[in-house]
Amino acid sequence: MSEQWIPDQITSYINGEWVAPSSLAERIPVLFPGDGRQISELIEADAVEVDQAVQAASDVFASGAWSGASIQDRKAVLLRIRDGILAHRDELARLEVMHTGSPITQARGRHIARTALNFEFFAEFISQVSNPVFDQNPDYLTYVRREPIGVAGLIAPWNAPLALASMKVAGAIAFGNSCVLKPSELTPLSFVPFLRILKDAGLPDGVVNLVNGRGPQTGAALVEHPGVRAVAFTGGTATGRQIGAGAGASLKKLVTELGGKSANIIFADADLDRALDAALVAIFSNNGQQCLAGSRILLQRSIAAEFRDKFVARTRRLNIGDPLSESTEIGPLISAEQRERVLNYARLAADSDGVEVLCGGSVPDQFESGYYFQPTVVAADKNSQPICQQEIFGPFATLLEFDNFDEAMAIANDTEFGLVSYLWSRDINTVMEASEALRAGMVWVNTPLTRELRAPFGGFKNSGVGRDGGEWSRALFTEEKTVTIPRRDFPIARFGVQ
Ligand code: NDP
Repeated sequence: MSEQWIPDQITSYINGEWVAPSSLAERIPVLFPGDGRQISELIEADAVEVDQAVQAASDVFASGAWSGASIQDRKAVLLRIRDGILAHRDELARLEVMHTGSPITQARGRHIARTALNFEFFAEFISQVSNPVFDQNPDYLTYVRREPIGVAGLIAPWNAPLALASMKVAGAIAFGNSCVLKPSELTPLSFVPFLRILKDAGLPDGVVNLVNGRGPQTGAALVEHPGVRAVAFTGGTATGRQIGAGAGASLKKLVTELGGKSANIIFADADLDRALDAALVAIFSNNGQQCLAGSRILLQRSIAAEFRDKFVARTRRLNIGDPLSESTEIGPLISAEQRERVLNYARLAADSDGVEVLCGGSVPDQFESGYYFQPTVVAADKNSQPICQQEIFGPFATLLEFDNFDEAMAIANDTEFGLVSYLWSRDINTVMEASEALRAGMVWVNTPLTRELRAPFGGFKNSGVGRDGGEWSRALFTEEKTVTIPRRDFPIARFGVQ
């Protein structure tokens, strides 16, 4: 059915073994977005298989083989995983391309590099981090321990499968937990070598288990499983609400990283050449399919016409094509369904009063197959247009204009989302004031996408609840235990001696 380097079939991976496919299980085709052909097949895990995976994770947790390992030992394994990922960078990147359609240079240079960094980061973090001690009370010493929470359920989206899933895996296991991971059913391929790398690095069987399948089936069974103590989820806002309800019903800890409609605000005093390069990166990286996309580009009116002309000219020159080609800048969207969704927004833009399609807006005609879509730029008269309010998740930029600082802040904040805001200005006062006024989890000043793993990452409003990154991942994946010990003998009230 497929090229030799692509796994033919993907089942669950439980306790260090690939599970034999059940004849009753749902079989879901895995497609190459570049031409729509089937390249593999996923065998869906049902609730029974999810239960087996949670049980395996729970058993190894109780055994102490990993949860009780020293920090030095855990750190060594995490660094070997990092090395394994880097050694297999090309294989992993090619598989990421085959199921996502992301351009190979971005898959290799950003996503796989980030996957390796996630393990390196948590290896270093666990060996440096400390816990509070309270010694203000002269009679007692009180200190805080952080203990692994047990089994974590990790649910990841399709847009950057390994980079996003591995942030959760690395965070969970660094602190001694076991986990069950469910990637999107569209993107299971790269997890096959990933799990082999984990095993080769010496991670005990059962610490990381994999279940594959659709969200409402496999994902929901994982979220609702009583043996799972914490859930880390990245995906859409509507799904996040369902997962929040499921996790809340069984009182699990939860972090959700959800959608965005981020403003990229460009003031007239910005370095406009750098702002232009960065605006293209912010919206067209990963084929526009990223939560952090700078999808609303807010231009100060005095520079708007010039910036718009240059932005449109550069967009027209983007190299669309085979995602495996080193020169491709825009590959196909993930699926026919996703392309239809983006196309519908382009139709809406074309039909809306006050919206002008400046380039793109349709399916390019040079491809006979595959889910390609022309990079699209539209200008909108006001932020209340649906294309300015709804997450499109494709190569689709909307330009808006503003006159002054207050208007820019009002437009940027007029959204149900609050993931990131990009800000371009050379004026320190503008930068300082805007970084306070913007209602977003991250403000990136004079830079495109920049992830600092030590810092919290997550959204305001409907972009999510909670954060990940260093201390914040530790908060999700550990329980705090407060231990109090007297510093000397003290009189204890004596009951029952009258
Ligand atoms: P979805 O919300 O559709 O799915 C995310 C994951 O959740 C998938 O593994 C999906 O499985 C699973 N899932 C779906 N329904 C349920 C359910 N009822 N119970 C449990 N699991 C479920 O998101 P997409 O995969 O479409 O990803 C795109 C979205 O992710 C965008 O909104 C984007 O903004 C957001 N995102 C957010 C990021 C952030 O850090 N804030 C980063 C990247 C993306 P399956 O797909 O197999 O059905």
